Amino acid sequence: MSNSILDTGIKLVKNVGGFNFGVGALNDLPRHVQARRVQSAKTGGESKVLFIIDEFFSGRPDILSRLGAEPRDRTEFVLTRDEPKTEAIDQLVAELVGAGFSRPATIVALGGGVTLDTAKAVANLLTNGGLAEHYQGWDLVKVPGIHKIAIPTISGTGAEATRTCVMTNSKTGLKLGMNSDHTVFDHLILDPELTATVPREQYFYTGMDAYIHCAEAMAGSYRNAVGDAYSREAINLCRQVFLAEDMMSLESRERLMVASYLGGCAIATSYVGLVHPFSAGLSVVLGLHHCVANCIALRAMSEFYQTACGEFMAMVERQRVSIPDGVCRGLSDEQYRALYDATVLHQKPLTNALGSDYRDVLTFDKVVSLFQKM
Ligand code: NAD
Ligand code: ZN
Repeated sequence: MSNSILDTGIKLVKNVGGFNFGVGALNDLPRHVQARRVQSAKTGGESKVLFIIDEFFSGRPDILSRLGAEPRDRTEFVLTRDEPKTEAIDQLVAELVGAGFSRPATIVALGGGVTLDTAKAVANLLTNGGLAEHYQGWDLVKVPGIHKIAIPTISGTGAEATRTCVMTNSKTGLKLGMNSDHTVFDHLILDPELTATVPREQYFYTGMDAYIHCAEAMAGSYRNAVGDAYSREAINLCRQVFLAEDMMSLESRERLMVASYLGGCAIATSYVGLVHPFSAGLSVVLGLHHCVANCIALRAMSEFYQTACGEFMAMVERQRVSIPDGVCRGLSDEQYRALYDATVLHQKPLTNALGSDYRDVLTFDKVVSLFQKM
């Protein structure tokens, strides 16, 4: 089995610059923000700050008042109904530039994967110029973006740790991020108090993203000792969380926050497998969100991921959550064709899972039959 399109051997991996972890970690944010104002002003830059915040927190003045914001700063609330689109990112960047916010001292992102990815893309575009679609791919970002701090408020995607920010280009249907060292956050505030208000099902779907990233990586053929170590521990923590009586106790939320971070580190050193390409198909063609789409896809993949699939179903039962069923029933031929196309184009993870001849296994009929099980 040849893996020629995958990186092999020792890679140079960029990690986040640093992090605070624990209940109350948010209290340290104003100190970091202030330090950036001073640092930026010293080097002739702006001292105002851009806050990019999940819409949920627009109704939480108790949290907003703890961020160290000043009247000269700017706050953008991110709508989460749709996952990030390149057009919407471009529009936001144009507005910021128009309002004199092209070089803030730092960007503070507070929210889930949608918000964190939006902040990563904006930070890169403000310094690199051009359109978001110009940077969809690997190592296309030329210069470092604006300094950025992430505060995840829901755990699982690992967006706080990775070197990408996933965006969909509606024109081309391409769902691909800016994979670059410049996309990595400079600092993280990991405060498990912030995830207490996440709705239960959303908490489960997003949390499972960490489990699925690592289960796919561990079942792949491109493996390395560092990626395996991150994956093993993230899976361990997910088991403790989702097989526990209460997946949302403070202890469980703490564990899931760590699992999310480690899962992000894991995929920065290895690759996902079959679930993510099928999930991307569901997102691009049917508009399903990433994390729920992963759960739907994994459930249909027991022939490829027997152990993970069985464990996943035990977790679903234990937490009494429901996974949408029949989402691909009765689609048109055109839609099945679009699902197939949107799935098989993910060469790297599919090669990791099945080898470079993956199309021999994933014939059109096979792919459609898998979607029909979803
Ligand atoms: P999300 O950002 O889609 O948010 C999900 C929902 O939870 C939203 O309604 C949001 O308002 C709400 N929410 C968030 N925090 C809350 C809180 N504390 N209390 C109450 N409600 C809260 O969530 P997600 O699942 O973390 O992110 C999915 C996105 O992440 C997708 O766009 C996906 O493509 C992306 N992603 C990125 C990476 C990466 O490496 N960059 C990896 C995987 C997924
Ligand atoms: Zn994922």
